[in-house]
Amino acid sequence: MDKITIIVPCYNEEEVIDLFYPAVQSCVEKIPDCEFNYIFVNDGSRDSTLEKLRAISEKYPNANYLSLSRNFGKESAMMAGIDYADGDAVVIMDADLQHPPESIAEMIKFWREGYDDVCAKRVDRAGETWLKRTCANIFYKLMKKFSTSYEMQRDVGDFRLLSRRCIESLKLLRENQRFTKGLFTWVGYRKKEIPFEVQPRAAGQTTWNYIALFNLAMKGMTSFTTAPLHLMTFLGLTVSFGAIAYMIFVFSMALIYGDPVAGYPTLLTVMLFLGGTQLLALGIIGEYLSQIFHETKHRPIYLLDEMNGKTPQFIPTERNTKIK
Ligand code: UDP
Ligand code: MG
Repeated sequence: MDKITIIVPCYNEEEVIDLFYPAVQSCVEKIPDCEFNYIFVNDGSRDSTLEKLRAISEKYPNANYLSLSRNFGKESAMMAGIDYADGDAVVIMDADLQHPPESIAEMIKFWREGYDDVCAKRVDRAGETWLKRTCANIFYKLMKKFSTSYEMQRDVGDFRLLSRRCIESLKLLRENQRFTKGLFTWVGYRKKEIPFEVQPRAAGQTTWNYIALFNLAMKGMTSFTTAPLHLMTFLGLTVSFGAIAYMIFVFSMALIYGDPVAGYPTLLTVMLFLGGTQLLALGIIGEYLSQIFHETKHRPIYLLDEMNGKTPQFIPTERNTKIK
């Protein structure tokens, strides 16, 4: 009998959370030789999600919950679930039923064949706006160009099954600024992609907006590649050589032809160009600096407020993580 833990990060999901358990459980109980347990992670919700999770865990013996001390973000909430998961494998799912539970059977099939990371790949991004699709395209293209050692998987999210060794490996990566999609790629192992269609949200609203997505993309870039820094060095060198060439040109024009060269527009263009490049370079350095700033503090990824009705009085580390 295989034991599978389903991890569900929840942030303000009061409208949908009651639908989740019955929908998923009725689907997974048909899978042979498997028993399932759930870890719902309440990520500092401001609505009644926590009360609902308490009720669900009282009603169903295989449902557990963790509640974080505030909103830490989905990436941290997933890590909390991973730390406490005791299954032979873990499935990560969103609470809003956008991830079809029917895919779990297929994931388990591939896991039993020896795959460590079976991730669901969106077959189309049709439901998304043109702008979101284009931004996603640019991000994946840039990441592919920049990161030479490993390739970021396209159109896969956090809906996936992970084997025990994948989970144990992920637990070693305690970085604070988490870009989970990159971390899944970083650990490696045998990966399999299965297609799925994103369902519309069962109820409630998404918490993602363009600024949050831009921040996530920046986090992805700065925590997985230093290529932008090298690019800036390259740009700096190119501009300097250009400036020297231009200087030689201006001097020769003045010396040979006595041409005074119109000063003001040239000066302004060069100044603006240089100013812009310098600001861009500073900004990029700043992004890396902010990563270092956050990482050097070694703060925990999340703090627990409550688990299964108990209020733990210890600082959670990956060594004392038992949910029952
Ligand atoms: N989520 C979370 N913490 C947050 C934001 C979101 O745990 O700060 C959870 C949310 O409850 C849901 C999942 O992450 O289960 C995906 O969020 P959402 O549906 O808002 O994102 P989308 O599906 O639009 O990408
Ligand atoms: Mg969603």
